[in-house]
Amino acid sequence: MKTYLVGLSIMALCLISGSFRGEWFVQNRAAGPSPVPILLYHSVSGDKSNPLMIEPTRFEEQMNYLKNEGYHSITFKEMQEGWYNGRPLPPKPIIITFDDGYEDNYTAAYPILLKTGMKATIFAVTGSIGSPGRLTWNQLHTMESSGLIDTQSHTVTHTNLTKVSDKEKMKELVDSKNEILHKLGHSADVLAYPYGFYDRRSVDAVQKAGYQLAVITEPGAAEVKQGRFLLHRILITGDLLLDQFKAALTAP
Ligand SMILES: [Zn+2]
Repeated sequence: MKTYLVGLSIMALCLISGSFRGEWFVQNRAAGPSPVPILLYHSVSGDKSNPLMIEPTRFEEQMNYLKNEGYHSITFKEMQEGWYNGRPLPPKPIIITFDDGYEDNYTAAYPILLKTGMKATIFAVTGSIGSPGRLTWNQLHTMESSGLIDTQSHTVTHTNLTKVSDKEKMKELVDSKNEILHKLGHSADVLAYPYGFYDRRSVDAVQKAGYQLAVITEPGAAEVKQGRFLLHRILITGDLLLDQFKAALTAP
């Protein structure tokens, strides 16, 4: 609901400010390559106290469905190359993402990803890595070594970027980026806004910090016309039955 309200406010602001709209939305206005559904998961566990969890068996069912239906899981880098540099994308491209860096991404989701050969991106909160219930750098490193997992940034402390000073925004964005580079040896070029909250200054900060892409939590597939820093994601909640999951993949 909150995200929806933020979205509405942003849309209202866009109507008011032409330049604002210009900076954000027009950079890729031309009809471009095909949309890419970006799925958003959090915890893969049977922990009923967590509203953001999905049961491992249900997650496995969804991964098997994607595989059997000919979906090709890709990385953000591959999507970027396809969208902006003309490199061909595979048929039925899809991106699988996990937010927050739950340890069960390693213990429960990773074995299923290995079994099905699906690639995924983990948006880690770098300041929480190694905390109880969260992934460790070693686990991230092990998963990345498989070639299936890519770690990107969900800031240092999971702070609402719209509520902190510009200086704090930059610290959250730059420090998490640097930490991933230092610990995993590759650059973090994609950001997931904590809680999906964003405003103009946060988007400017993300760009200034050197990110190439950023994702939000508005429903529907990601499309070039959304611009690089407001790419939509489809939230997959644990209560979705397979038919609902199928419908969510193609819903506008
Ligand atoms: Zn989060």
